[in-house]
Amino acid sequence: MPPHLALFILLVPVGSPPSTVVSDWTIPARFRSQTVVGRVKGFPEKIVALTFDDGPDRRNTPMVLDALKRHGQKATFFLIGEQVPANAELVRRMVADGHAVGNHSWSHPYRLSRDEGLRQIQRCDAAIMQAIGRKSACFRTPGGFTDNGIAQAARSQGLPNFLWMVSSADTRRIGSAAIARNVTRYLHPGDIVLMHDGPGHRETALAVPTILAGMERNGYRSVTVPELCRIWDRWLAEKGVNKGLKPTQPPKLSSPSKPRRASQR
Ligand SMILES: [Zn+2]
Repeated sequence: MPPHLALFILLVPVGSPPSTVVSDWTIPARFRSQTVVGRVKGFPEKIVALTFDDGPDRRNTPMVLDALKRHGQKATFFLIGEQVPANAELVRRMVADGHAVGNHSWSHPYRLSRDEGLRQIQRCDAAIMQAIGRKSACFRTPGGFTDNGIAQAARSQGLPNFLWMVSSADTRRIGSAAIARNVTRYLHPGDIVLMHDGPGHRETALAVPTILAGMERNGYRSVTVPELCRIWDRWLAEKGVNKGLKPTQPPKLSSPSKPRRASQR
């Protein structure tokens, strides 16, 4: 066999389409049933997770995807299930571009029972499964509620509820310049950033290129939520934290009263 043919066979194994990219959506066990909202104290790396809620939307989502691709950054899209069937092509593009697809319920309800919450999660996942052949990577409650029926249902299923540390405040219908400022000004290592690419959020889509350029100037890069979780997990494990998300215990002093007495003298 000529050497160049052997190389070709190595690169394109029979039976697996060469364009299939399967990103790792594994989330470490310490996140199980957690509400992820506070900053992981002391996290040193300029890595964040940009997230976009309430899509997919045929107008705004492609603009966001184009900007992310130009800048080579990854994001997580928390989808409303009932919008998925009509926009399945966009969801496939998210996956092909290396982003993560999150579950943001079927129809974005706030007040519901735990059973209804479970059905909302399952129905959204079924739509995502139909579009991309795999379940969602992660979950976020509509409105960021932490104790309504759907938040309880998620917890009972072991799903973490990924809220955010920085909000773009783009639901207040502010302009793209203000949205970009809200993100870049308050960004901190390890942050999850809330934005929206759903219907009506054109100003956010317009702000994304400015946000990405600002992040890059400040040395930040964005990864998917599952990848951020794995980076946190490794960092916490290195610090000897084997459970939970709290990186440092209060320092233990063997006799805390002694230094105080000394200083009073
Ligand atoms: Zn939402």
